[in-house]
Amino acid sequence: MTRTRVKYLVIGGGISGLAFAGRLGSDDLLLCEAEQELGGYCRTVRRSGFTWDYSGHFFHFRHPEIERYLVERMDDPEILRIERRSAIRIRDRYVDFPFQKNIHQLPKEDFLACLLDLYFREPREERNFYDMLFSRFGRSICEMFLIPYNEKLYATDLRLLDRDAMGRFFPHADFDDVMRHIRAPTGTGYNQTFTYARGGAVEYVKALQKDVPPGSIALGERVVSVDLDGKIAETDRRTVEFDVLVSSCPFDRLLSMCGVEFDRDVYRANEVEVFNLGFDRKGPEGIHWIYYPEREISFYRVGFYDNIFGDPRMSLYVELGRPRGGTPADADATLARVLEDLRRVGVVDGHELVDFHRVVLDPAYVHITEASIRDVREKREALAERGVYSIGRYGAWTYCSIEDNIVEAWELARQLTRA
Ligand SMILES: Cc1cc2nc3c(=O)[nH]c(=O)nc-3n(C[C@H](O)[C@H](O)[C@H](O)COP(=O)(O)OP(=O)(O)OC[C@H]3O[C@@H](n4cnc5c(N)ncnc54)[C@H](O)[C@@H]3O)c2cc1C
Repeated sequence: MTRTRVKYLVIGGGISGLAFAGRLGSDDLLLCEAEQELGGYCRTVRRSGFTWDYSGHFFHFRHPEIERYLVERMDDPEILRIERRSAIRIRDRYVDFPFQKNIHQLPKEDFLACLLDLYFREPREERNFYDMLFSRFGRSICEMFLIPYNEKLYATDLRLLDRDAMGRFFPHADFDDVMRHIRAPTGTGYNQTFTYARGGAVEYVKALQKDVPPGSIALGERVVSVDLDGKIAETDRRTVEFDVLVSSCPFDRLLSMCGVEFDRDVYRANEVEVFNLGFDRKGPEGIHWIYYPEREISFYRVGFYDNIFGDPRMSLYVELGRPRGGTPADADATLARVLEDLRRVGVVDGHELVDFHRVVLDPAYVHITEASIRDVREKREALAERGVYSIGRYGAWTYCSIEDNIVEAWELARQLTRA
C-alpha cells in the first residue's frame, strides 16, 4: 500500500465534493470518488438516442450568480427554461399540482368534501408529518392525496417523520390561499419554472469539475476507514494522511468508517428505484411529470424527458419508493409491473420499449425526525472539532437541492481558508 499526504481529503465526487474542491483554491488536495465517474446522483446516461439522469433532476436556482457560474463553465451551454406543467392522477382524472390548491378541479362531490374538511379541520398538535398534514388540510385532502402519495414516496408511516420533514419543499396553503387560488389561479406551487441543460444534469457536474485542480481526483477509489486520532484514512488503494477531511458520503456510513457508535434506527431513509424507459414513439404531450397517489399503482411519479427536450419519442423516468435496506427487488419483475401499470394509467398505449436503464438511489429521501436532527447536529459538531466535516444532502442527512449543496460547500471552503 502506498502512502499519500495531503492537507485536504475529500470523500465523494458528486456536486458537494466537487463544489468544495473547486472553491478551495488549493492543490494540496485529494478527492476520492468510489465510482468510475464523477457526479454522484447527478450522473447522466446516454443510450439509444435518449438522455436520462439518475432520476429526473431539474433545477430551480434561487441564486442567479450560482447558475451563471455553472453556465459560464459549460463547454456548449444549451439551457432549457421550462414553465413547469405537472399533474396528479386521481381516479382517472387529472388535477394540477399542488393538490391542496387545486381541489376545485375535482368532481363536485370530492371538491365539496375537501373544502368542507379544510374549513372545519380540527387543529391538533403537530407532533409529526402526518399530524401536520391532517391539522392543516383536513381529512379529505389528506386521504385523497397527501397521505397515500407521501407514504408511497417515503415508504414509511408518516407518523415517524418530523413535521418539517420536507422543509421549504412542501407547498403549504391555508384556506384563504385555496380560495384565492380558485378565484384567480396564481402560480401552481413551488418552483414554477425550472432550467435544465440539454446534456442532462451531468453538465452541472462537468462545470464544477473545471475549477478542481487536475490530478487531484482519484476515480474508482473508495475510502474504507478513518482513524480520527491519527488523521489517517485507508482507501482500497492506499493510506492517506490528512489535516482536514470533507465527506459527502451518507452520514451513517461516515460514522461507521470513523468507528463512531450510533443508533441505526435514527438513520432511516427510503430508497428510490428508478426506471428510465425509452419508447419508439411519442406518448402524452404537454406534461412534464405526473404524481400517482393510488396505492395499486407501483410508482409514485413519472416524468417525461421528451416533453422537456421536445423529442419525438417518449422518454420516461419512473420512480418507486422502497424502505431502505429491505429485500432487494427483482428488477425484471418490477420492470414488468411498471410497464403494466404504465398501460393501466394510459401512458403506454401500444408503444414498444426501445431501451431502458435502472438505478437504485440508496438513500434517496432521508427520514427527518427530531432524533435524527439532534443526533446529526451533535455528531457533525463533534467531528468538525476533529477536522472532519460532513456535507451534502446525505452528509448532512437532510432534504435539499443541488444549489443548497453548492452554497454549503462554498461556505465551508471559505471558512477553512479564511485564516
Ligand atoms: C429522486 C431524487 C430526485 C432529485 N431531484 C433533484 C432536482 O430535481 N433538483 C435538485 O436540485 N436536486 C435534486 N435532488 C437532490 C440532488 O440529487 C442532491 O442534492 C445532490 O445530487 C447531492 O449531491 P452530493 O454530492 O451531496 O451527494 P451524492 O450525489 O450522493 O455524491 C456523493 C458521492 O460520494 C461517493 N462516495 C460515497 N461513499 C464513498 C466512499 N466511501 N469513498 C469515496 N466516494 C464515496 C458517491 O459515489 C457519490 O459520487 C434529487 C434527489 C433525489 C434522490
